[in-house]
Amino acid sequence: MDRIPISRRSFIGAAAAATAALAATGCSPDNTLREADAAEATQATTPDGHRLDAEFDPNLHGEWVTVPCWHNCGGSRCMLRAYTVDGVVMRVKTDDTHDDTFELPQQRACPRGRSQRQHLFGADRIKYPLKRVHWQPGGGDNIHGELRGKDEWERITWDEACEMIAQEIDRIYAEYGNRSIMIGGYAGAQLENVLDQLGGHIPFLNSNSYGSYFVGTPNLGITYAINPDINGSNDRLDLLNADTIVLYSANPAWCSAGNPMYHFMRAKENGTAFVYVGPDYNFSASTLDARWIRVLPGSDTAFLLAVAYVMIIEDENGSILDWDFLHRCCVGFDAETMPDDATVDENLHDYVLGAYDGIPKTPEWATEYCGTPVEDIRWYAHLQARGNNVMNLHSYAAARYNGSEYFPQLFLTIGCMGGHLGRPGNATGGIFSFSAGNSGEPIVQCGAPLPDLDAMTTGNSAIGTLTIANPNDDAITGPEMWSAVLKGSYHYMGTISYADGSSSIVEPEERDINIRAYFAQNNEGFSTNMDINKAIEVFRGLDLVVCHTWQFRPTAQYSDIVLPCTTRWENAEYETGMINTQINRDFMLIPGTVCEPLYEAKSDRQFVELLAEKCGLDPREFYTRSDTQRRFDAVLTSTIRTEDGTGVMPLVTVTQEKIDELGLEGKPQQGVIDYDEFVKTGSYQAPRRENDNWTWIAYQDFVADPEAHPLPSKSGKFEIYCQSRADILNLMGVSEHEFKPYPVFFQSKDNYEATFADWESKTKGDYPLQCFQPHYLRRAHTILENTPWLREAYVNPFFMNSKDAAERGLTDGDAVLVSSPYGKVVRHLAIDDCFMEGVCAIPHGGWVEMDEETGIDFGSSDSTLNGSYFAESLVMGFNSVVVQVEKFEGRAVPLDLDKPLPQPIVVNE
Ligand code: SF4
Repeated sequence: MDRIPISRRSFIGAAAAATAALAATGCSPDNTLREADAAEATQATTPDGHRLDAEFDPNLHGEWVTVPCWHNCGGSRCMLRAYTVDGVVMRVKTDDTHDDTFELPQQRACPRGRSQRQHLFGADRIKYPLKRVHWQPGGGDNIHGELRGKDEWERITWDEACEMIAQEIDRIYAEYGNRSIMIGGYAGAQLENVLDQLGGHIPFLNSNSYGSYFVGTPNLGITYAINPDINGSNDRLDLLNADTIVLYSANPAWCSAGNPMYHFMRAKENGTAFVYVGPDYNFSASTLDARWIRVLPGSDTAFLLAVAYVMIIEDENGSILDWDFLHRCCVGFDAETMPDDATVDENLHDYVLGAYDGIPKTPEWATEYCGTPVEDIRWYAHLQARGNNVMNLHSYAAARYNGSEYFPQLFLTIGCMGGHLGRPGNATGGIFSFSAGNSGEPIVQCGAPLPDLDAMTTGNSAIGTLTIANPNDDAITGPEMWSAVLKGSYHYMGTISYADGSSSIVEPEERDINIRAYFAQNNEGFSTNMDINKAIEVFRGLDLVVCHTWQFRPTAQYSDIVLPCTTRWENAEYETGMINTQINRDFMLIPGTVCEPLYEAKSDRQFVELLAEKCGLDPREFYTRSDTQRRFDAVLTSTIRTEDGTGVMPLVTVTQEKIDELGLEGKPQQGVIDYDEFVKTGSYQAPRRENDNWTWIAYQDFVADPEAHPLPSKSGKFEIYCQSRADILNLMGVSEHEFKPYPVFFQSKDNYEATFADWESKTKGDYPLQCFQPHYLRRAHTILENTPWLREAYVNPFFMNSKDAAERGLTDGDAVLVSSPYGKVVRHLAIDDCFMEGVCAIPHGGWVEMDEETGIDFGSSDSTLNGSYFAESLVMGFNSVVVQVEKFEGRAVPLDLDKPLPQPIVVNE
């Protein structure tokens, strides 16, 4: 291939054209998506066009720049290195800054991260502010809400956009009051600062990824470190000390596809056996050659109660139960250790044996509900026996089903019964995101807490010197987010802190609400909050929807004003965000810059400052320090644990000469890496060695001396009977089930039992299958869905067992119509006996493509199938729904790769 001269502008245009060409075939279900024209397709193949495949020459005057993959994959925020020539990213590789060793593993990225240049420079990049053609400010008939998701767009300036938004905020507050604007981003939308200064906003309280771990886990004694229970398991060095590692409903090979699987593979090579519990034998399980314990979606309580039963019944001479642990470190397992605040004279031990309801929770009883073979329940119970070195590691997937409220308590209980906490080679806790396979307090820690984390955790905003409280104390919970807007009232029940899990749940009240505007920043709330059909109805009824984004994602498609946003590869000074706590405990990354902001994109800060000015506020009050200074502050205040593990010290060495040279504020300090070297390398990784003082054994101090190191629960111990958590759940007032202070079995909505028309006779109903929603390697939630390379590599099928397929006359590759009580999607079928009979799956995060004539979503968002309602508490049952599947007899269904990428049709481009 001839070498091609490049410039950033031509590269961007060419990359866009190339992407468009890839998307040029197929058709869209409606007219909102622009198809690439023939000229673009031709251009993509000419020497001056398609640059993505230009020959790579390291002798070009480029440089390797360290950049992050920042996506919310549940991964480890991996390192990418971008070969950049004049703002053009020619190649992307991952961490090769040092040899790969167990002590210092490379921080390798997965295919998602490695595809990012196509994502950033894609054809569907939002280039300039857009206004929906038939939307006009002023409310009433001017909004033409019925055209949201269908309309064309016109290019406007940032000045015009912010002027319109400011006028609308003013009008909506004046007409509807200060409780009329909702912000859809939970992850620190900095827009909150402006709205809270002007009058306030309505946040929503969402259990997010955590499911039932969001409610009252500190009350159980479980640690909460940004996310619940992630420091409840041990670090990567201790994985090698386990005889067996249980991955409970976890699939890091797809979810956290950076280093976590590397850590587990090292344990495997060292002789550790693996067990996987869940409804499918997933990629992680097969890679680790794990024993599969089948459990139907949402039936973990039945399974684990039966495990407890076997552990109790077959505990000959204390061979299984760790009575010392149960009596010294726990309350409420049996009548001997009831906590002081108990109001019910019952305990788990006696409940499991059937003392209160006459039903012993035997494996034979449980298998009817969970589908687990009786012998597997027994085997699992004996695995958990004291004396075995077992790590029980859960993701939050089992906690995201309806009726999973007892799962955190019961999962912990099984670990306590075998004494699998606080000792090397033993753990009972979470693995998730940056901590997957490597839990524990950070060894290297970024400095300067981010304002957006403050906003996320407290509901208040604190940027610069200005601290702004939201005047509204509302919090609409996730399950009724859309219903509340539609009906004009909601079930207020207080709040739960994202920072530490503390609950401020109060006596509920029905509150009127009148939401007229929705702002989306940092979040794809439109299509990730369950029930897309309801979300569309909500959006079409609002006066104003604003979306700040770099791609034409579903929320943008249904908005009125779309504003182009920078990414974290464009001028890193805007983004102190990657020097943050969400990086694995050994490793910290400081991103470099590959180019200036593309097109007319602006950062969150620039947007906020512009809007503040239009709203008559002083933008200098919102940000008092320059981006450069904020980034420098974050570097200076970053720390590393001292070698003896007892304290922390500065990570980075900075001299007065360097501070003067940079022209910034700060004091000289001595760390372990020089400032220039840190910035040049773009990262720092703490070298580990066996038995070093940084090894993390969760709860070790507590287990050694419970009185001296009490847990966050009321009793200071693990609460197998937890009065305060039951009181919280009952106070919410949304469940027909009265929660006991210890885990019990009950049936909830849209779970396995709902697949039957008649449970007693086992007659199946209209929706006879359970469909769950695994995370998928093609995307991180909804992000990266629009990346052609990933679309080609991962086709996003609908998964089903061969027996279920044969019963329906379906064959591999068929287009199938999947119907739930709430919506319909179409996908191509992948027959796969790694799924239990009666269980099927649709990958999480597809972008909705709603065909309004048929009501079928051809993009197959899982949220189209899910209903939104209160099941038992504020926990959102994202993870499964009941469905029927049949062959799709409608129009031809192209593969996603052959469809156009969503792009706005701009009438005055
Ligand atoms: S998507 Fe996740 S696992 Fe993959 S490169 Fe990005 S951060 Fe790493």
